[in-house]
Amino acid sequence: MTDSLKAVYIKTYGCQMNVYDSGRMLDIMRPHGFHHTDDINTADVIILNTCTIREKAAEKVYSELGRILILKNERTKLGKETVIVIAGCVAQAEGKEVIRRAPFVDIVVGPQSYHNLPMLLEQIKRNKSWIVKLDFEENNKFDLLPEELGKGSSISFLSIQEGCDKFCHFCVVPYTRGAEFSRPVSNIYREALIMAKNGVKEIILLGQNVSAYRGLPPDIVEDHDIDHKIHKDLKNQENNTIIISDIQKNHKKNDNFNYWSLSKLIENIANIKEIKRIGYTTSHPIDMLNDINLIFLHCTEKKLMPYLHLPVQSGSNKILKSMNRKHTREEYFQIINLFRKYRPDIALSSDFIVGYPGETDDDFADTIDLVKQIEYSQAFSFKYSARPGTPASEINNQIDEKIKDQRLQILQELLRKQQMIFNLQKIGDEMEVIFEKPGKKNGQVIGKSPYMQSVVCDGSLDIIGEIMNVKIVDAKQNSLFGKII
Ligand code: SF4
Repeated sequence: MTDSLKAVYIKTYGCQMNVYDSGRMLDIMRPHGFHHTDDINTADVIILNTCTIREKAAEKVYSELGRILILKNERTKLGKETVIVIAGCVAQAEGKEVIRRAPFVDIVVGPQSYHNLPMLLEQIKRNKSWIVKLDFEENNKFDLLPEELGKGSSISFLSIQEGCDKFCHFCVVPYTRGAEFSRPVSNIYREALIMAKNGVKEIILLGQNVSAYRGLPPDIVEDHDIDHKIHKDLKNQENNTIIISDIQKNHKKNDNFNYWSLSKLIENIANIKEIKRIGYTTSHPIDMLNDINLIFLHCTEKKLMPYLHLPVQSGSNKILKSMNRKHTREEYFQIINLFRKYRPDIALSSDFIVGYPGETDDDFADTIDLVKQIEYSQAFSFKYSARPGTPASEINNQIDEKIKDQRLQILQELLRKQQMIFNLQKIGDEMEVIFEKPGKKNGQVIGKSPYMQSVVCDGSLDIIGEIMNVKIVDAKQNSLFGKII
């Protein structure tokens, strides 16, 4: 790649997996001479990392592309080349349709293929033709390991699992991200070590459903001589990938491995001295009781953050059944009660959908009742929107938009109150805060509490990247205010 295509702008839509993927795209591109820019006008490569979870996602991408085309044409007049890349779930769902509707797009790359970006950009440069790459190659994607991982960040995501087999009736993830795939323990541990070396203090283990994590244990990897090879030459990515692929094939044939659960993985990452905090997201209730040790670990492992994001989506058993969630509200309460028993101060978070097809006033009242009983520290709530191709989109009994709006308002008002109460309860507490970035005002720094809240303190920018004891003196809806002790 010559100097003509260097600055990369990425716009990320949607969930934390996409945020993680955008970071990895940059990690993968950096060794090839690319650098990140926040200014789209100066970007030689523009990547839209898209999401299909919300309504009209594809339409939003096309209208954004209209604006980008104007920019591309202006740059062309100045003799500057601009490569446009559509990545993520819209890319996976739409494929060549993207090129048909927006022929000025150069690359369409699915969530399982973005590790090929440097090569695809090189191809575009040589052939000047569009490329659509949508293969499901999870091993390759994860196992290309830049040594810059986590550099410049005190908090980093580490992807341990991807895809989902749950097929909730409203969700496109199983179609766009594929079946559940757990990364082998050695690979994850190796990334955690690199992050620790690069100054990361908090790792959030990430996946569509991390509670379903079943990782190939390191001794299996050693049996195949892979650990030795990995440590011998981290840069020999091609070899690692081939060997891991072979093991993965064997593991699919042979189900006798003693797979590692999420809790065992956490226990081991906790042994890395430089890593001070570990979190995980997202989980599914039906997998939580398969790894009971995870609940105990919230009591015994100091590094495990007192935070659980456990989506429930609805408080109505009728709607949960229609959503194909495979659990009841009673089972959800049972899990939450267990977590609270072993970690009473745990901060709880969830996802909610209001106005799912067939949701009556009584069903919605069940959701409100569930929220009142649980008392969340934060939560994400949305109006149901039909995703093409999902079973829920074919249910006749769709809910009127006005009713959805009213229900969302009621739910969000309650969740806001609960978040405020949770934050106010922290006033007077002392807690460890990892400082991440400058505050909005001069002389302020922003960090993160173990409960996932933003904490604003007066302090020098030198403390960014440090972990410090802070006394909380005030609280607002979205952040705490503290004094460094
Ligand atoms: S658990 Fe359900 S909502 Fe979550 S990713 Fe899987 S199918 Fe989608």
